[in-house]
Amino acid sequence: MKIKDNIQAVKDILNKKHCTLVAVSKTKPSETIQEAYDAGQLDFGENKAQELQKKAAELPNDIQWHMIGHLQRNKVKYIAPFVYLVHSVDSMKLLREINKQGQKFGRVIPCLLQVHIASEETKFGLAANEVIELIQTDDIGKMRHIQIRGLMGMATNTQDKKKIKTEFAVLKQLFEKIKTMEFPENVAMQELSMGMTSDYEIALEEGSTMVRVGSAIFGAKT
Ligand SMILES: *Cc1c(COP(=O)(O)O)cnc(C)c1O
Repeated sequence: MKIKDNIQAVKDILNKKHCTLVAVSKTKPSETIQEAYDAGQLDFGENKAQELQKKAAELPNDIQWHMIGHLQRNKVKYIAPFVYLVHSVDSMKLLREINKQGQKFGRVIPCLLQVHIASEETKFGLAANEVIELIQTDDIGKMRHIQIRGLMGMATNTQDKKKIKTEFAVLKQLFEKIKTMEFPENVAMQELSMGMTSDYEIALEEGSTMVRVGSAIFGAKT
């Protein structure tokens, strides 16, 4: 495996647009992540809290760990002390727990709200109206230990590029709409996390600021 070349190939596409590459390392062993780190990669994404915690303990301290998978409230504690960005916040209850754990560890935990944009039922996320409701809740401004940095979404798993493009465009529109609205100080629409191996080039065209790419870097899942 030429992880270094794979990272460079993805970065060559991204760099023109100032988009962050989150290397999705779920299921990959720490040695493989170390190899990507040695090639200069600092942002890594995992989808399980305990796996993330374990790898963070084994790997260099300056890695920026992104939680990209569905997060249960009782697992927030495992990643709260160090997680760099939680991409998958999909309820007020989860946000409250992240805030609580942030307070416990004396830090502000950056979060993205996951929006449901795909047509599949199985994907997690909030509906557009729920996102707007959530950020307009009075409580949000009082949560001193979270910061909402933007939105995350996953397109439908399909070959239909037009459909994917439309779904990303819908998410981008919501992102832009929220920017024009009134919201508390700890909410800022800066990051739009969309795009994975199969669709990150489309996501980039639609304004993604952060792509989550696994297989194009580490090879297909085994
Ligand atoms: C696994 C995963 C990715 C990366 O998928 P690839 O197709 O391997 O690039 C991105 N986002 C989420 C939420 C994932 O679970």
